[in-house]
Amino acid sequence: MQNEDILPVLYDLVVTIGSEISVKPLLTRTLQRLLYHTSFSAGFICLDVPVCKKEDGLVEVHLDAVVGDFDLIGVIGKPIALPCALICDPAGRKTEQAALLSALRATQTQYRSFLRLPIDHCGVIVLLAGEMPETNLPLTTMLQPVLAHLAKAVVLCRNNDAHTSGLVNQRDLLEKVFESSYSGVMITDAGGHIIEINPAFTRITGYESQEVYGKNPHLLASGRHDHEFYREMWADIESNGHWEGEIWNRRKNGEVYPGWLNIDSVRDKNGELLYYFGMFSDISTRKEAEAQIHQLAFYDPLTRLPNRRLLIERLQQAFSVGARNGQHGAVLFIDLDNFKTLNDTKGHDIGDQLLSEVAERLNACVRDGDTVARLGGDEFVVVLEALNTASDEAAAQADTVAEKIRDVLGRPYQLGRHTHYSTPSIGVVLFLGHRQNLDDVMKFADTAMYQAKTAGRNTIRFYDPVMQAAIEARAQLEEDLRHSLELRQLCLYYQIQMDNRNRPVGAEALLRWQHPERGLISPAQFIPMAEESGLIIPIGLWVLQTACAQLKAWQGDARTQRLTMAVNVSAKQFRSPDFVAQVESTLAEMNAKPALLKLELTESIVLEDVEGTIAKMRELKRVGVSFSMDDFGTGYSSLQYLKRLPLDQIKIDQSFVRDIVTDSNDAAIVQTIIAMSEVLGLSVIAEGVETEAQREFLDLRGCHAFQGFLYGRPAPLQDFEARLREINVNV
Ligand code: C2E
Ligand code: MG
Ligand code: MG
Repeated sequence: MQNEDILPVLYDLVVTIGSEISVKPLLTRTLQRLLYHTSFSAGFICLDVPVCKKEDGLVEVHLDAVVGDFDLIGVIGKPIALPCALICDPAGRKTEQAALLSALRATQTQYRSFLRLPIDHCGVIVLLAGEMPETNLPLTTMLQPVLAHLAKAVVLCRNNDAHTSGLVNQRDLLEKVFESSYSGVMITDAGGHIIEINPAFTRITGYESQEVYGKNPHLLASGRHDHEFYREMWADIESNGHWEGEIWNRRKNGEVYPGWLNIDSVRDKNGELLYYFGMFSDISTRKEAEAQIHQLAFYDPLTRLPNRRLLIERLQQAFSVGARNGQHGAVLFIDLDNFKTLNDTKGHDIGDQLLSEVAERLNACVRDGDTVARLGGDEFVVVLEALNTASDEAAAQADTVAEKIRDVLGRPYQLGRHTHYSTPSIGVVLFLGHRQNLDDVMKFADTAMYQAKTAGRNTIRFYDPVMQAAIEARAQLEEDLRHSLELRQLCLYYQIQMDNRNRPVGAEALLRWQHPERGLISPAQFIPMAEESGLIIPIGLWVLQTACAQLKAWQGDARTQRLTMAVNVSAKQFRSPDFVAQVESTLAEMNAKPALLKLELTESIVLEDVEGTIAKMRELKRVGVSFSMDDFGTGYSSLQYLKRLPLDQIKIDQSFVRDIVTDSNDAAIVQTIIAMSEVLGLSVIAEGVETEAQREFLDLRGCHAFQGFLYGRPAPLQDFEARLREINVNV
């Protein structure tokens, strides 16, 4: 290189240095240009040269750039030990340089001379050559400004590199988050087409990217949310740019799962909508965990019955419901007799088996709305709801369930190889609304249970002594009723039915029970009991037979041969499968005229099974039997079914007749019933007619048949017939 060439060289180097923004190309390109201009064959650059260690004359460095030597290129970035004399010590004479380089093990190439150019505090450039290139220029001095410039460039490029590598890292990081996120991510364009999803999306939904790209996220919809749900969601996104909430979605395999979804809209600076960004997680495991926690918190792990905590909650609800609708509830406190003995002798496993079995049996004894809970040990509590509004009826209902429980729990248990017998002691307390507090109710039930234990176990006790007495009396009565037929304690009374010309048209047979100690008992008291126990079937048959026999007996007398006989039929009796056959065979047996038999049904019979009722009525009508709808107006009185029933008569309930003259409301109801009967082509009769005013009122409005104390009370046969004779004399 000659003197006049120096300026273009410097210019070239400065331009090269200035055009690079990153350290690596800066060093490499600068080194290339230097070698080119100086005619050295190879070179390297070390930045950050450490202070030399003099002992072995070596210094450990990293080569940051190498040009022209393949061996050295191979060690770029790796630590390499080089002679201090090459890197930092004052360079020796030519002969010494050759000796130094011949010992250089890092490269196969034989160099004999080198030129070291320090880059201001920041490192060194070492140029290598087989022979020192010929030049008379003071290269080191001449290149000084270029090297200073390079030092500055290195600092700038390093800063720049740090920044860009930061940017790269940040992007890598975001990508990593996106890729490895536990939450499913989906990005749609402004038109709602999916343009990006992450692996979690695939893991949760089962859809691969190629299956969803371009599709609408609605493909995840489960169908569990209505239109309104999605409408509100989009309204939120439109107005706030955001929606968040729980949503049921469907996986590719059809499985529906609960998710937590965040949706954001992404807009540019001008507010133009660019993307929607949805991020969701599968919360089914969380839900399961919640359910599990709920299960642990509120249920007994052994029997899976509600525990004390849930029982208290349910009782509180039952109190509130009772307060609203006036219906009683009952708490049955159940303790197994001698459970401890079983546990001690047969072990806890067997004890646990018994408890599980008891739990199952208890559940089978109650209705859906009722609660069976386990307090712990062998103590169970049953809560009955929606019992009767009348406390004695409610007590009877609770007693029936308690009896059933006593019976069911008393049946043998198969525990492993053992057959075990167990009995319960049951304490019962009624409650109504918030009249008593919860703790008291539980305490009373517990006390009653102890009374049951003291009374000899396998026993039911009511907390209330009056109630207990009533229940006992009732139980006794039921027992007595069982024998009433065989002991011939039942009889029929007859009550006359008249037309508006004071002519007898029929009689209603009304059942009476002549109890040896209690005297005459009203059917209102024992018919419900007979229904519950099933005794109504034999009793009802007896009534039918007796009434038909009477009809037949009346055939022979001109005064009675046209009288109809009304017989009351209860729901259970009517529903029994052979009811129709029973009526037919009774009529045949007694040789009575079917046309004179009138069966009185109540609305409750019809409502239970309209179609079945119609079918049975038709069959009997075919034989000639007629039907009257008893107590009309007190039930649902739905015109809907009334129109379809093959009825002959409607019987206006006595509760409307009672105040018909004074209560305009009752008067209106009665008038409506009469008008309705006319429309339907049915005859109408009023029961409970006690006064002439009532009779006249009814007669004037189109009801021309009457039954009531005005004409005669229900009476035994002899009295009834005597009364008939009286009337006939007067007519
Ligand atoms: P029901 O069929 O509505 O009978 C009419 C009830 O009104 C009878 O009560 C009768 O004595 C009473 N009664 C009649 N006239 C008057 C009156 O002018 N004023 C008042 N205050 N009451 C009057 P009873 O005999 O006590 O029967 C009550 C209910 O027992 C009957 O109501 C009926 O539903 C049922 N019943 C009676 N006998 C039988 C039967 O053999 N089988 C069935 N399943 N139920 C029966
Ligand atoms: Mg009746
Ligand atoms: Mg009636």
